[in-house]
Amino acid sequence: MNTLGNYINGQHTESTSGRVAPVFNPATGEQTRQVVLSSADETRAAIASSQEAFAKWRAVTPLNRARVMFKFKALLEEHADELAKMITAEHGKVFSDARGEVTRGLEVVEFACGIPHLQKGEHSLNVGRGVDSMSLMQPLGVCAGIAPFNFPAMVPMWMFPVAIACGNTFVMKPSEKDPSVPLRLAELLTEAGLPEGVFNVVNGDKESVDVLLSDERVQAVSFVGSTPIAEYIYSTASANGKRVQALGGAKNHMIVMPDADPEQVVGSLMGAAYGSAGERCMAISVAVCVGDEVADNLVQRIGEEIDGMRVGPGIGLSEEAHMGPVISKVHAGKVKDYITSGVEEGATLLRDGREFVCKGHENGYFVGPTLFDNVKRGMRIYEEEIFGPVLCVVRAESYAEAVKMINEHEYGNGTAIFTRDGDTARQFCEEVQVGMVGVNVPIPVPMAFHSFGGWKRSLFGPLHMHGPDGVRFYTRMKTVTARWPTGLRAGAEFSMPTMK
Ligand code: NAD
Repeated sequence: MNTLGNYINGQHTESTSGRVAPVFNPATGEQTRQVVLSSADETRAAIASSQEAFAKWRAVTPLNRARVMFKFKALLEEHADELAKMITAEHGKVFSDARGEVTRGLEVVEFACGIPHLQKGEHSLNVGRGVDSMSLMQPLGVCAGIAPFNFPAMVPMWMFPVAIACGNTFVMKPSEKDPSVPLRLAELLTEAGLPEGVFNVVNGDKESVDVLLSDERVQAVSFVGSTPIAEYIYSTASANGKRVQALGGAKNHMIVMPDADPEQVVGSLMGAAYGSAGERCMAISVAVCVGDEVADNLVQRIGEEIDGMRVGPGIGLSEEAHMGPVISKVHAGKVKDYITSGVEEGATLLRDGREFVCKGHENGYFVGPTLFDNVKRGMRIYEEEIFGPVLCVVRAESYAEAVKMINEHEYGNGTAIFTRDGDTARQFCEEVQVGMVGVNVPIPVPMAFHSFGGWKRSLFGPLHMHGPDGVRFYTRMKTVTARWPTGLRAGAEFSMPTMK
């Protein structure tokens, strides 16, 4: 059995913890490799390596740091197909979707190439007579990243390119479910000329994470994953004096107004609800239809589209599947239990994915696309994140009722409105309590030069990922106020300069 280890000091290292976790191909249900679960001491060794590397890396000029990112970007382009295949083999998403994920990560690397421009700080001449002030944006030191399974390439690349380009060193803890890609990214960074120890990968579970949250050498923690763990990460690391950004779960609503273009709505909703088998933090899992006529038409059309969907392995079919399996057998069971709970709580099940079997892949973790109508607030399928291919249609009588529903939901990651009316769209953008908003755009993921983050229980911490917030997160401001001693020629002064 192929065992994936760690990547420390510019090379692959084995673990002696004696603990491993299996890694599966979700399309076949076969275990393909295993990954080490590092011990606390091994995690400390990775931090020590990054701490040592920091002294030299912070002294490398911003331009030369950016040049490593330029080379890394070129290598990512060269190896994009290879990385996408690795994603499909361990995550299960279809190849074109995996390729898209690599591109979204690469865009953050492109953003990081321009970080010298964003790290210039601020300068004011003559804040007092002959006194200048400058604010320096200095790197923090060792930063840590903890990633979820659903974007094994993109989410780590939301974090480390920005951190490293700003002059920090980084310890990455990937998801134990699909750890191959982060290890490959570490190799490519070395090939791009990144000095050893600047980027280390530690594979592991809670034992490693708890070290990253408590070791005093770690200055900042970036986390993406489920809300209960995000909350734990935020409270623990903050209590240990670290800066933290912890992104959590989601339940993203899309409002469909009566004047929306029906074709645009259906096309957008199919990809947003069922793409990546619903395992996206920005997936639309609730469609709120304003008026029964809108809802009747929508469920009819979505049902027809579902009947034409190809569900299968993410790679290897002559015509690519629309949707692959979910991540694990346990998760497939959890999604099916949610569907059962929806039936028990009185929602109308129009398409049922529980019995779906993929021919030739009978042991794969497939759940068929599922559609519920008449979903109501209070039902578990409405309140909780399912993270599977399940779309809930909720009927609202008015726009005001639809917005209220979104604003009162515990999550606030993404949302969208479909309408032809500019006034309604504008009002929605103004009042909705959600971090990322789409107007006739179902998955409004901000580009790398903007920042990504939700509101409410979808994000703990003040700063979002990448973009300007990412640079702020990975730098610390130091303000220098300087006066040069020509004034001493006139003799010593004892009064405050601002009092003149
Ligand atoms: P998860 O919370 O189970 O795991 C995320 C990471 O935390 C993994 O690296 C895991 O090893 C670690 N972890 C798990 N349990 C831990 C514990 N008790 N103590 C310390 N560390 C622990 O999440 P997941 O299942 O891998 O990913 C899916 C979740 O991520 C969904 O809820 C999804 O919405 C969320 N997500 C959110 C965003 C966002 O931008 N808000 C993006 C992607 C995924």
